[in-house]
Amino acid sequence: MTIKEIRIKDWLLKVDVEQTTRLYSQLGTFAEECGCIYCRNYTEVAKNFSNPLRSFFELLGIDPTKSAGDISEYEQENQMHLYGGWYHLVGEMLKGPDCMLPPENWNQINLIKIDSFEMGFTRNLQLVSPIFPKSVIQLEFVAKIPWILPDLPEDSE
Ligand SMILES: [Zn+2]
Repeated sequence: MTIKEIRIKDWLLKVDVEQTTRLYSQLGTFAEECGCIYCRNYTEVAKNFSNPLRSFFELLGIDPTKSAGDISEYEQENQMHLYGGWYHLVGEMLKGPDCMLPPENWNQINLIKIDSFEMGFTRNLQLVSPIFPKSVIQLEFVAKIPWILPDLPEDSE
């Protein structure tokens, strides 16, 4: 057991990084689990995230290509696609705002900002994989993701 206390912005988290890493190693990528063109594009981009973004996910034990959680594509804006989604990690939130539950508000809290990612933590769990234990935190994000697949979304519709 390697439970670490991690302080990020206004959050104090207790995270089992080792167990989180082990669970992610058992999951498929978004491309493998869903296979839609948006998930395939996201997975390709996530394989080549910048070092700061990669380090952030590594700190928590998250493999950002893997589908612990869910992603959606919302809209396209100047060649970039707005995605939103979440990842799960083993642990609990000791201190800090809940980015999804009132009285906090996504737009008013001190979000984590790395590259085009805006992220926060919530106890409002959705679609947790059955391989996860009871104690789980959800990392919510929105991000502008470039389109790097040779085929375009319009082609597949
Ligand atoms: Zn998909």
